[in-house]
Amino acid sequence: MSVINRLREKLCACGHSLFARGLTFGTSGNLSVRLPEGGWLMTPTNISLGDLDPARLSHLDENGKHLSGDAPTKEAFLHLSMYRKRPTCEAVVHLHSTHAVAVSCLCGLDTNDCLPPLTAYYVMRIGRLPLIRYFPPGDQALAQEVEAVAQDNHAVLLANHGPVVSGHSLDTAMAATEELEETAKLFLMLRGEKTNPLSAEQVAELRQR
Ligand code: ZN
Repeated sequence: MSVINRLREKLCACGHSLFARGLTFGTSGNLSVRLPEGGWLMTPTNISLGDLDPARLSHLDENGKHLSGDAPTKEAFLHLSMYRKRPTCEAVVHLHSTHAVAVSCLCGLDTNDCLPPLTAYYVMRIGRLPLIRYFPPGDQALAQEVEAVAQDNHAVLLANHGPVVSGHSLDTAMAATEELEETAKLFLMLRGEKTNPLSAEQVAELRQR
């Protein structure tokens, strides 16, 4: 099987898995992967991640122009912002996953890093999570806000919306997104409890690995 066809199958398998596990619902959420020859495969607009068809994925060129397949997600610009600032990133996952969205609606979050380092896996897979202020769906001004922090952060949380996570492969972007969602769930479960997050020294030690 050619590389592009393998990536088509892989992208669809990731979408199906996210949908089957309730991490995405309706037609929300979108995924993309960089192609070795340049450009991207992206999930189309108005389709459930549970219903993706490898042959109908959107194929974009290196400038983000739609080449073939169904029209890309209206949130394509979010993905392209991440890729522009992170040339080594190979895949982007954006979800409206419930617990991460719930956190994104809370008052008083630290906008530089909106989830505490509750577990080592969260620190290793996400590390720091800036909160991007709210913009209405499709507002291209969101792209600039994401680009302003994307160079130093591979994951961001969009206020009242959801996470955008990049990775060196679809697998690492998926794993990081799932870790973020589970940490958001833990954070909500522990609200009101005295917690013992990792210390600054413990976080620094993990970041060095
Ligand atoms: Zn979205």
